[in-house]
Amino acid sequence: MYKKLPIPKSTNFLEERILEKSFKGIKFSREELAYLLYELDSESLYALADKIRKEQRGNLVFLRAIIEFSNYCRNNCLYCGIRRDNKELKRYRMKEKEILAEAEKLVLKGFKTIVLQSGEDPLWDAKRLSKVVKEIKKFGVAVTLSVGELDYKDYAILREAGADRYLLKHETIDKKLFSWLKPDTTLEKRIRCLFWLKELEYEVGAGCIIGLPGQTLDSLIDDLLFLQELKPDMVGHGPFIPHPKTPLAGFPYGNPELVLKIVALTRIILPYANIPATTALGVINPVYRIKAFYAGANVIMPDLTPEKYKTFYEIYPGKGIQKFDLNGWLETFRKMGRKTDLSPINYH
Ligand code: SAH
Repeated sequence: MYKKLPIPKSTNFLEERILEKSFKGIKFSREELAYLLYELDSESLYALADKIRKEQRGNLVFLRAIIEFSNYCRNNCLYCGIRRDNKELKRYRMKEKEILAEAEKLVLKGFKTIVLQSGEDPLWDAKRLSKVVKEIKKFGVAVTLSVGELDYKDYAILREAGADRYLLKHETIDKKLFSWLKPDTTLEKRIRCLFWLKELEYEVGAGCIIGLPGQTLDSLIDDLLFLQELKPDMVGHGPFIPHPKTPLAGFPYGNPELVLKIVALTRIILPYANIPATTALGVINPVYRIKAFYAGANVIMPDLTPEKYKTFYEIYPGKGIQKFDLNGWLETFRKMGRKTDLSPINYH
């Protein structure tokens, strides 16, 4: 636990101090983050984050379409439903042509970013993926990749092919917890990958799974301190959702209210970041995904994997059966007074 209260409670001074630090990019100390996480009531924390989001990013929501093109994975992450030891899962691997046809459809709907995500599938190496990236770039949209840990030269090939952004959640900065949960890699390697991606001038996305078995609140503060150092362009946090076909089947769900608090704190320390309201929050209860937009979030990443594959990209249960009702969401954003980056000319 932390020792002293760094800032007085319940005064305007508190709000002013936080906003000033946030806007000026002054780093928050462990004590300050602990105070905000442990002592400040959630609603005040969300309100602060919402204010910062509005001031720094305005009312625009970015919609980024995800295509999960392969659920083959060489890794055995303890929390993940597509881990290699889940022999009951039907595996699929989309073909180049299928991915491109899907991407084109989404571009015609008005999406300006296509996100390609997969397990760590050795058959989808950087060379093969770079061809798809090049083709999607011809549609005039941004390409985000989320295909796990690769060598520097592979990240370079993909960047060269035109990939703009890369999502690689660091999951947890707790070294022991990380190596237990991800036996095929190390925290050190994951962090190295994140810095390589920065060096190659990708827009980089990191983030945590919140509520992992054995994860402490103090370690979440370490996650925030790490994010403050890494300064990623994007940060996605989601609650842990136990998958019945994994060794973590019996553990409880991550607390969505805690996720919202960490989202808010992330907005405070990284005022300009793009922060998604994650699908996992919505799986626990759709209300939390909406709430995230009042706690600092400004991005939504609809899962638009073709229906015939979608249910098999089951990193956690309930994910594949989520339908993304685009018109419903556009209406929701309109009611919330938020604009979206969906191109109005192409959209129908
Ligand atoms: N192979 C890629 C993509 C992994 S899936 C990579 O390693 O980056 C995308 C994200 O799903 C993961 O980064 C993890 O944060 C999340 N995830 C996986 N299983 C989960 C679970 N059971 N509960 C919550 N989030 C999970």
